[in-house]
Amino acid sequence: MNRSSDILDTPVEYLKGVGPARADALKKELGVFTFRDLLGHYPFRYVDRSRFHSAAEIRSDAAYVQLVGRIKDFQKAGPPRAERLTATLTDSSGSIELVWFKGLRWILNKIRPDVDYIVFGKPAWFNGKYNIPHPEIEPLENRTSGVAGENLQPFYNSTEKLKSRGLDSKGIARILRNLIPAVQGHIPENLPQVLLREMGFITREEALVNVHFPSSPDILNQARNRLKFEELFFIQLDLLNHKMLRTEKSKGHVFEAIGSYFNDFYHHHLPFELTEAQKRVLREIRSDQKSGRQMNRLLQGDVGSGKTLVALMTMLMALDNGYQACLMAPTEILAGQHFATVTRMLGSLDVRVALLTGSTRTPERKKIHLGLQDGTLQILIGTHALIEESVRFTDLGVVIIDEQHRFGVAQRARMWSKNIIPPHILVMTATPIPRTLAMTLYGDLDISVIDELPPGRKPVKTVHFYDKDRLRVFGFIREKIREGRQVYIIYPLIQESEKLDLKDLQDGYESITREFPLPGYAVSMVHGKMASPDKEYEMQRFKKGETQIMVSTTVIEVGVDIPNASVMIIENAERFGLSQLHQLRGRVGRGADQSYCILMSKYELTHEARRRLQTMVRTHDGFEIAEEDLKLRGPGDLQGTQQSGILDLKIADLVKDEKILRLAREKAIRLLETDPRLEQQENKPVVAFLQSMKRHRADWSRIS
Ligand code: ADP
Ligand code: MG
Repeated sequence: MNRSSDILDTPVEYLKGVGPARADALKKELGVFTFRDLLGHYPFRYVDRSRFHSAAEIRSDAAYVQLVGRIKDFQKAGPPRAERLTATLTDSSGSIELVWFKGLRWILNKIRPDVDYIVFGKPAWFNGKYNIPHPEIEPLENRTSGVAGENLQPFYNSTEKLKSRGLDSKGIARILRNLIPAVQGHIPENLPQVLLREMGFITREEALVNVHFPSSPDILNQARNRLKFEELFFIQLDLLNHKMLRTEKSKGHVFEAIGSYFNDFYHHHLPFELTEAQKRVLREIRSDQKSGRQMNRLLQGDVGSGKTLVALMTMLMALDNGYQACLMAPTEILAGQHFATVTRMLGSLDVRVALLTGSTRTPERKKIHLGLQDGTLQILIGTHALIEESVRFTDLGVVIIDEQHRFGVAQRARMWSKNIIPPHILVMTATPIPRTLAMTLYGDLDISVIDELPPGRKPVKTVHFYDKDRLRVFGFIREKIREGRQVYIIYPLIQESEKLDLKDLQDGYESITREFPLPGYAVSMVHGKMASPDKEYEMQRFKKGETQIMVSTTVIEVGVDIPNASVMIIENAERFGLSQLHQLRGRVGRGADQSYCILMSKYELTHEARRRLQTMVRTHDGFEIAEEDLKLRGPGDLQGTQQSGILDLKIADLVKDEKILRLAREKAIRLLETDPRLEQQENKPVVAFLQSMKRHRADWSRIS
């Protein structure tokens, strides 16, 4: 370790202006332990303090404003415990109200009527006019902000705890001002010179100094672009490196030939022609399995695109070569459904398949364990129960994981360790992932896409109705049930208010049973709080057509396949995310009949909620919906990303920085092509930085 990195490793406590108490808060609240960490706490916004606004021009609450004027007419209002203080700031153009809810006495004592003040804050629209709540105020005379060379004021994320220790945004800026001179001259470059020149980047040190205290908007841009690039570049390098190592090191089972299981199934049991996309994906899988390398493939395919069949045929390839296979689903309902589908499709083929879930009884469980060990059991389908210690295969050749976003990285890692030679892994997801996200989340996996639905599918007609249209909707339900169809009615279930939601669901169920009385209408209800045998029982009743209406929470979301159900009604649709709505809609449109999706919502909607519903009405394309979702919510909230931690990006933004991401990936690929072991002198900075990254955080890149 050289001297430069010593300084960056200094505990933040030793920085001027910090000390033990603040250091403690920085650690707990921001995960800032060292000088390096603090340097990496970038501002989230910059405000131009060189510009002054006039009171008359304030027409929006979108941006911060800075005014100069006199402050007068102090007035207190409101009840004693919730008093507020208002005053008027007047400049040559007009005036605007300032308002305080805290520290009233202090303000009253501090502000004098005959002094010009700089007032800085974010306007708010209140009672038909703009005011500025809790502005920053300083006398024009002893102005410290916006002085020459520091016109762009950085804004930092802070927390209540930090604020109580004097580390609000300004306080954080203050300690960073102490940090910069201490580390200047000690910040090592982490990109090769060639790359720096090629990209026209400023040095790392320049970038880090200027991202905190930019001397001009232009240099700020350069600093941010460089830091975004380097953030994405090192993620890509790590992912690609990992993939390369795995490809080299981990052997995979070689499935030499396609044999009688596969052929027999393909020629005699397949109920329909495979789509071109299914054929292509099977070829991709086949070539992985012959290669001698372990397959690590992500299969993306929209709901209803026929992934289950691909899974089954992939498992048959393993069986043909004397291996076992397993298929893991996120819920018991789905595992059960897969089991039923697989046994039905296999028909008279002599393949031994078993189902293992949390509710499998001990005798049956024992039989399964035995069958796995003596090799007589060939395909095991199940839930998380599959990854329990006690489940041991003799020769597991392939693992298929359905709807991967419900499984954490750690769980996948456990499948890995089930054999000396790791099984081939196929992860299937119906949640289309935007390209930028796939590149980052699954940069080390190979990706296959089923981009074609089986023939004859009619797009689901989607409409958005308000609560007042309910009678019309009921009429429609009656008509469809009379035609012999079945109907889903889905209610939201959000963890935090589970009780309330459950009440919504029960109220809904009661009003539906009142509206649709027996005979003629039987109603099922399923929710997550039910015991699984009860859930299963209700699902089966609906599946067999014994009930016409299924009132449910989102437990029904993933993968349930009931072709006769052709109407999907989503209550409080404004409370669902886009990918969830898309998943739910995918439950219908599986049979030959025209299907419908009715999105019910209240009348007043946030802008975002309205856009979500409009998107659903406009398009059926899962990828388009995923892109929109990414735009609306940002990557942090997308399914599958939370547990990964991969998207803790500090500065890059996967929505806005797609171009930079592509460049970063391209450059990372090229670097590894020309110097796979990173041995060349000019790549030393890269290696040093990768090592310091490894020291500072866990290796999250192991997807499988
Ligand atoms: P998903 O990709 O959502 O898991 P499924 O595997 O459940 O989709 O398939 C949806 C439906 O389409 C099933 O009823 C399945 O039998 C049917 N299916 C699958 N492949 C084809 C095909 N090539 N031609 C016609 N129907 C198909
Ligand atoms: Mg499925």
